Amino acid sequence: MSTPQPQTTERRYQLFINGQFVDAESGKTFKSPNPATGETFAEVAEADKADVDKAVAAARKAFDGKWSKISARDRGRLIHKLSQLIERDAAQLAELETRDNGKPIKESTYIDLPGVVENFEYFAGWATKIEGETIPVPGQVFNYTLREPVGVCGQIIPWNFPLLMAAWKLAPALSAGNTVVLKPAEQTPVTALELAKLIQEAGFPEGVVNIVTGYGETAGAALASHKGIDKIAFTGSTEVGKLIATAAADNLTKVSLELGGKAPNVIFADADLDQAVNGAMMGIFFNQGQVCCAGSRIFVEEKAKDEFLGRFKEKADRIKVGDPMDKATLMGPQVSEEQLNRIKSYVDIARNEGATVFTGGGSPELAEEFKNGYFFQPTILSDVDNSMRVAQEEIFGPVSSVITFKDDDELIQKANDTIYGLSAGIWTRDITRAHRFAKAIKAGVVWINTYNMMNAASPFGGYKQSGYGREMGKHALELYTQVKSVWVDLSGKPIGWFGK
Ligand code: ADP
Repeated sequence: MSTPQPQTTERRYQLFINGQFVDAESGKTFKSPNPATGETFAEVAEADKADVDKAVAAARKAFDGKWSKISARDRGRLIHKLSQLIERDAAQLAELETRDNGKPIKESTYIDLPGVVENFEYFAGWATKIEGETIPVPGQVFNYTLREPVGVCGQIIPWNFPLLMAAWKLAPALSAGNTVVLKPAEQTPVTALELAKLIQEAGFPEGVVNIVTGYGETAGAALASHKGIDKIAFTGSTEVGKLIATAAADNLTKVSLELGGKAPNVIFADADLDQAVNGAMMGIFFNQGQVCCAGSRIFVEEKAKDEFLGRFKEKADRIKVGDPMDKATLMGPQVSEEQLNRIKSYVDIARNEGATVFTGGGSPELAEEFKNGYFFQPTILSDVDNSMRVAQEEIFGPVSSVITFKDDDELIQKANDTIYGLSAGIWTRDITRAHRFAKAIKAGVVWINTYNMMNAASPFGGYKQSGYGREMGKHALELYTQVKSVWVDLSGKPIGWFGK
């Protein structure tokens, strides 16, 4: 892999279809800016329906051909090889991720890339462990099941963890023997195409993985509605998730969706307050707040409110915002100008709804070099009521809404009063209260006295409008396999039903 070039130099990328790097059929390209400076970082081929058609055809050919003939062991070995190549190039990939997405280099180095390696490693191991069952049916009959791949999978991913989301999608799909057409987000196309180079180097047969960069409304929509795919997996906004499910419904394509959230992160007065403040910070300011499981509604027990807000503000104000390539930076820019404007508009909405901007709420003062970057301050909104828009709608930025509650019943009622159900956190020393909450909250992931913990072996996904299906862990294999029931007569006798 080549050494990353200086920030101002444009990098050029082509689509990855059938094992080759190719231009878009239309010859069109689009520009991906560096969010820290607003300058173009890469110029990338822009896929359209014609390219998606080509990619799906390549994936089908690979699925019916070479890939189906490769043993589970060799599939696992290829995926493992890929994880090793990613580990080899982790430093360069982390740098590219930071330049394309804006996230601090500390995060891409210590969170994103290790997570990518972990996911490929974990699912490499599963390839040889996907098994059917024998079923004890009555009579002289043998019944068994085969767990088979679904086929050609379309996968559409977001921009907040570009390479990690590619890993969450590709690793289980490949492990189970599927082929893939992956569409990265238009804001962050670079690292998926760098991954394509490693997929080529690892020696995957052509067409097993195809990567088509382009816009959601064109390439994404063409993939979601394609008659040639057997499954579509999507991570992104709930709004687009509904479009994907609607498009897939026409062909009855299998769908899995990992969508938005408005997670409650609950702080009881009996919690270790220092830890709870750290957890609140991790919940809402990690990755610039661009996290679907962000703890964006912070519920604080009324009597702890003032102390919590004081400590939370003090820490939030100390977050180092700025150059994402600086190892000491803890918050980089938002991914795009569009996102930045959206966040600003939500702070205006909060003010109009009667909330208080307790800290932040605007753009930070930064060096000349970053004046066109999409930076926003860590922001705390207090005096928020759970019915306000800033408590009900996903902002997807570093904006936390602090809401108070008096007792457990009021808390559960308010915490569950949302269309979302992806995750939740609770901070308390009372173990009974913590587990009661874990049971009562309608969310797919619950963190007790911690936040944002994840592992390739543990399932992740949402209740309610946060989606359906679970990624990671053995649960992800359910998304990428289907079950066939096989019946065998052992009696040797003719079927007598209609007479012998
Ligand atoms: P965000 O709103 O946070 O940018 P989106 O849900 O819009 O997130 O985008 C997530 C992914 O979905 C991206 O890869 C994007 O290109 C894609 N996408 C957006 N709109 C559509 C659509 N209508 N059909 C299919 N994919 C889409």
